[in-house]
Amino acid sequence: MSTCLEKANVDSVLIADNSYLAHGNTHLAQEYLDAANIIFVVLNKDQEIILINQKGKEMLGYGKDDITGQKWISEFIPLSNRHDVEGIFTQLSHGKISSSCSYFENNVLTKDQSELLVSWSNSILSDKNGEVVGIIGSGYDITALRQSQKKQKESEELYRQLADNIMYCVWLMNLDMEFVYLNSAVKSLIGYSPDELTGSKAASFFPRDEWSKIQIKINDVFTSGGNPDTFVIDTYVIHKDGKLIPIDLWVKVFFDDDGMPLHIQGVSTDITERKAMANSLKEETEQLKSSNEMKKLFADTISHDLVDSASIVSGFLEYLADLEDNEDKSKVIRMARMGATKLLSSINSASIFSKLENEDELQLQKLDILEFLDSSLERLAPNIADKEIYVDIRSNDVFVAELNPIIEEVFFNVLSNSIKYSPNGSTIDVDILDLGDMWKLTFTDSGPGISDEDKDLIFGRLKRVNPKNMHGRGLGLAIAKKIIEFHGGSIGVTDNSQGVGSTFWFTVLKQ
Ligand code: ADP
Repeated sequence: MSTCLEKANVDSVLIADNSYLAHGNTHLAQEYLDAANIIFVVLNKDQEIILINQKGKEMLGYGKDDITGQKWISEFIPLSNRHDVEGIFTQLSHGKISSSCSYFENNVLTKDQSELLVSWSNSILSDKNGEVVGIIGSGYDITALRQSQKKQKESEELYRQLADNIMYCVWLMNLDMEFVYLNSAVKSLIGYSPDELTGSKAASFFPRDEWSKIQIKINDVFTSGGNPDTFVIDTYVIHKDGKLIPIDLWVKVFFDDDGMPLHIQGVSTDITERKAMANSLKEETEQLKSSNEMKKLFADTISHDLVDSASIVSGFLEYLADLEDNEDKSKVIRMARMGATKLLSSINSASIFSKLENEDELQLQKLDILEFLDSSLERLAPNIADKEIYVDIRSNDVFVAELNPIIEEVFFNVLSNSIKYSPNGSTIDVDILDLGDMWKLTFTDSGPGISDEDKDLIFGRLKRVNPKNMHGRGLGLAIAKKIIEFHGGSIGVTDNSQGVGSTFWFTVLKQ
């Protein structure tokens, strides 16, 4: 080492500059330089290395090899950087120390021709007379640091681009409730650019009462220690043009490892359209409700007026029939009366059907099935007698089920059909079967039966399968089906398993 120093005529300078060397501690100085995790290199004015520490040699890939005497710029600086380094060297060797040359970053070439990025701190070596005799550079290898900074920058850029390209407004607030970051979507949301908002107090962009609500929620998150750390709120922001914009606001508070709040992140979207849709949906529902109410009222009024008028016609026809002695005339009056009676029953069915259509549910209570069977048979007693039919009810227990009294319409309809379509003098079997949580009622007649293709259709509205049979109203089974569905049961028809005819059945829940 001393040879090099003598060669460069810089020993006296080092003595002047460095207390270790001044006290003759050259070994100590060497150890210190070798241990430091930096490249320490001294060049003479001819750009030759006159001293380099061990760490520096290792960084450059030379291990213990001696590289003193080699030309620094031509051997260790890649071509791309040579011009700049040359400039720095010239400035320094002329004693000019500017901030641009005392701290400098450039690449250096290692033994295997790979490049390291080194951050240099340079100073001048002068002799006793103040003559510049060399340059001292100490440098950190910042290759890895720069690479990770580059990667971080790239990933930050990627996130920024991502944030800027999403349609949601993403923002970050510090604990003083000031915006520190906003993506570009904020411009289309409230008319301000991210730059205009960064650093501003968030409170200025919300109506006072809305901001209070948000602040309360944020404070709740603070006091709960972040459990939960997010909330969503529907609120309003003030647009640059003064308009209030409805938004939904998703807020998350970030905490450090000690549970202290760090910052607040939010995502907001304009919900003007959603609000408008919800409002119009609400309006439509209201309209629908009121139009349903109107329909109900209309149906009630019509059916009431029709029933009144048809009852008057029927009453007068009965009176007229009693007065009339002429057989032919009285036959016509009787037929007219039959027509009026059918009209009354049609109006009744239509009114029940329309009421059921407007109902959401029926109130159910525990009632005995047989009561409804009996009252229907009582109503149908004249028809049963006319056709000399025997109704065989094959049980007389108590069968309690969850029923609404309207269920009588089902019994009445199914029974009256069975009677209507049964031959004179035949039997109708009525069974009540226990299905566990349900009762199944079956009504078997020996009438014409129902073809397979019509078995489902007859439960539809106004479906009459035999056009010749025009006595029916075609609504009875549709009403029965609706009533049974309200009871949580089902209804259907099968062929009479014992012979000709059909078996109508329905189920009701026991409870
Ligand atoms: P309707 O008032 O016409 O009887 P329903 O809805 O009660 O109306 O019945 C629909 C159709 O189902 C009837 O027109 C008839 O063709 C058929 N039907 C109903 N019950 C029976 C039955 N027991 N036997 C044969 N056909 C039936």
